[in-house]
Amino acid sequence: MRLCSVAVADFRNVSSVQIEPGERFNLLYGLNGQGKTNLLEAIYLLGSPRSFRTSRLPELVRHGEQRAQIRGTVASGGIQNELRLVVESAGRKVEIDGKAVHKASELHGKLNAVVFSPDDTGMVRMGPESRRRYLDRAVYMGDIGYLHCWHSYQRILKQRNHLLKSPDKSGLDIWTEKLAETGAEVIERRLKFVTVLDDKLGRYYATIAGIGETARLSYHPDGVKTALREHIREELLELFKRQQRSDERYGTTTAGPHRDDLTLELDERPLKAFGSQGQQKSFVLALKMAEMDNLQDIFGEAPLLLLDDMSSELDARRNHNLMEFLSSREIQVFITTTERSPALLEATQHCAVFHVEDGNLTFEGN
Ligand code: ATP
Ligand code: MG
Repeated sequence: MRLCSVAVADFRNVSSVQIEPGERFNLLYGLNGQGKTNLLEAIYLLGSPRSFRTSRLPELVRHGEQRAQIRGTVASGGIQNELRLVVESAGRKVEIDGKAVHKASELHGKLNAVVFSPDDTGMVRMGPESRRRYLDRAVYMGDIGYLHCWHSYQRILKQRNHLLKSPDKSGLDIWTEKLAETGAEVIERRLKFVTVLDDKLGRYYATIAGIGETARLSYHPDGVKTALREHIREELLELFKRQQRSDERYGTTTAGPHRDDLTLELDERPLKAFGSQGQQKSFVLALKMAEMDNLQDIFGEAPLLLLDDMSSELDARRNHNLMEFLSSREIQVFITTTERSPALLEATQHCAVFHVEDGNLTFEGN
């Protein structure tokens, strides 16, 4: 998958930028606060229903303007698509080849991109919510059916919570059954994804860290010990029944996939408690590589890789390992750094270099 051209207008601090990125490596360098991450965010948003930085649309529109616009030409599977995204405070509009798109599923897979940014390591240190958010986004990227069942689950959960709060509890059993049914689908799809990813993760961690530590990712949904949807449904139903008293007391569903967590381990110890900062970064980066690999398996083409602020992320050896690996793959990569010639550039050939200053972009050659 390749982004052949991209034009960004009135997006954050970018008033108007138009570039034709290189097929392989693209370096966007510039001082702090100049718009490097903004440009990665624009590229990411073109193919995704949500930003990796914010869920508040008005933030994306340049101060004093009404709308932001991003256009891009994407080459994939031998064909080209024109994607256009307009962001206004009221909402977002997407067009593919000039036709308005109304469902997220129509955009699915048109421009896949995996981001690795300094904020991502927060998912190791922070609470379960940030890991769930990661999981839900990552599953959806490769599984178009996930969004639908996830939304159904949220809708049913809201109904059930509403009933738990109200004095009249009639119908609660029906909603509990529905919740177990869709919850089982959510869990089944998550489990499938985590099994595939865990298998790839170990290999990528070794590639980056270059040492014999074992990285593991696992998902142990509360109350569930099986992997088949029908069995998960029964287990979930039991869990909800077991929790019903406390659910009624708290007026909310206190257990289920909306409360689950992901387990991240290095050498069988929790990464959060025992991993150094560098190990945590390498782990999350390996996770992103595994995700990329998974998307390549599913779509038959590698997604774009957006590496934000690489200068601060890894030590020289890990950087070298990463660049060597990326050089061996057919991937279009966008890297942002504060310096023009970091060590990582040495490992790459075919790198298009762009200077970012005050929301403007200057091409400086290959
Ligand atoms: P760093 O190296 O520190 O990560 P960066 O080059 O990645 O910096 P960005 O995060 O891309 O910087 O850009 C930050 C700039 O964009 C800030 O100066 C911020 O004020 C500006 N900015 C963010 N949103 C808007 C907006 N809606 N309108 C105008 N400017 C904005
Ligand atoms: Mg930045």
